[in-house]
Amino acid sequence: MVAVLVSYPENCTGCRFCEMICSLYHEGAVNTKKARLRVQKPDIMNDIPLVCTQCITCGDRCCIDSCPEDAISVVDGVVTIDGGLCTACGNCKKACPYGVIWIDKTAHKCDLCGGDPMCVKFCPSGALRFEEADKDSYASLLTAWRDD
Ligand code: SF4
Ligand code: SF4
Repeated sequence: MVAVLVSYPENCTGCRFCEMICSLYHEGAVNTKKARLRVQKPDIMNDIPLVCTQCITCGDRCCIDSCPEDAISVVDGVVTIDGGLCTACGNCKKACPYGVIWIDKTAHKCDLCGGDPMCVKFCPSGALRFEEADKDSYASLLTAWRDD
């Protein structure tokens, strides 16, 4: 079993440190629009940290199947974008139900920080953990998010 980022929305306070540290780590500057995860706020009371490392999250292979260049695949259990093949067409960004892909010169998504996720380290509330995937938890999360 491959470890994945698991979201615990009940712990999230909406501080968005995770987005800040992700963009700082990958882009060298705090820019939450370039973070590889998103804290969604479906209503005033709830914040949901969303990130995709495996298609277990949406279950539909949306981004993989949307790519005309076959630039997205599962490598060692993790959904990965090959920047050498990506033409930045934006199809994957449109297809991703979580909105966790963004486009620059190529598409970008979570790469687990090479196996040491910064967002997990810096979340002050324990709302993100790096652990084995629990399909039932992900299914509940997806249902809750889509229903809001
Ligand atoms: S750092 Fe943690 S508590 Fe803050 S917004 Fe991100 S997931 Fe939520
Ligand atoms: S694991 Fe790294 S790349 Fe993925 S969302 Fe967290 S900080 Fe961003």
